[in-house]
Amino acid sequence: MSQINNVIIIGSGPAGYTAGLYSARAMLEPLMFAGYMSGGQLMLTSDIENFPGYPEGIGGPEMMMQLRQQAERFGLRVEDKNVERIDASERPFKVYVEGEEFLAKSLIICTGAEAIWLGAENEEGQKGRGISTCATCDGAFFREQEIMVVGGGDSAMEEATFLTRFASKVTVVHRREVFRASKVMLDRAQKHPKIEIKTNRQVKSWLSDESGLTGAVLEDPRDGSSEELAVTGAFIAIGHKPITAFLDGQVETDDEGYILHHQDTMTNVPGIFAAGDVVDKRYRQAITAAGQGCQAAIDAERWIEEDGH
Ligand code: NAP
Repeated sequence: MSQINNVIIIGSGPAGYTAGLYSARAMLEPLMFAGYMSGGQLMLTSDIENFPGYPEGIGGPEMMMQLRQQAERFGLRVEDKNVERIDASERPFKVYVEGEEFLAKSLIICTGAEAIWLGAENEEGQKGRGISTCATCDGAFFREQEIMVVGGGDSAMEEATFLTRFASKVTVVHRREVFRASKVMLDRAQKHPKIEIKTNRQVKSWLSDESGLTGAVLEDPRDGSSEELAVTGAFIAIGHKPITAFLDGQVETDDEGYILHHQDTMTNVPGIFAAGDVVDKRYRQAITAAGQGCQAAIDAERWIEEDGH
């Protein structure tokens, strides 16, 4: 019979590591499956300047390493493996990882959300070298530069408006003439003197040289004609998708796949908790994810302590 873990944490961004830290300090001997690419989205961020306590800023990967070391110091066990699926139909819960089965009284799901990338030609090589999916994280690196934002929803309008603080010019590139963005946010972007909006344009490929991004080839989907736009930075804001497919519908989510909290940080399945971007489509910050990871660990600890768990 396999050992029954008190807590298995799935996912390893700021929410996961903070849940690991708190549950380890609560002597629950948590086990974390961090994923093959542990650390989550912050591994793609160069500098984090808005996490309190780092007056000089800190690199995303460095912060994730430190969060991990801090949690491991108190006994968090980390495996850099992906969870393939879970069985939440009875307790203890079963977690399947590379053909092995692990048992747990409680689960904390912190698998996050991933930004949707465009998948245009030459995109892979320019990720983090001029192309970003997070204006809050990377906007300040483009002071006095000409940049572009791809998308026609609220995120694109919000990012474009935010980026005018740094950039000398922001071009919004949207593939249609009609916008999903709310009227007020679209209006604000349209009226901003630093923002130009180009509709009916799809990014076909990214242009670069040894210094990084130099521009994009834009195609008009109506007639296939193309033009080049010179930019040194590009932000893709075409939406996020939560990483919940491995749950196979066993934990309740909204229509977009974000896990729903039922009571505090507990999901509809008693004993399964969730924290961070896998739940949160509003704030999506390292600090808010870490805070919720803390809440989930405290909720799991209290739930385990109750009679019968
Ligand atoms: P969204 O509303 O789904 O908009 C996504 C945009 O990306 C659409 O314009 C879409 O174009 C475009 N797009 C999708 N795939 C594309 C592709 N492959 N190539 C080019 N363009 C592509 O997503 P969102 O802007 O991230 O907003 C998500 C939710 O969060 C919304 O409910 C929004 O209101 C909310 N939000 C609110 C705020 C706020 O109130 N402060 C801020 C941000 C987000 P099409 O229109 O042609 O499909």
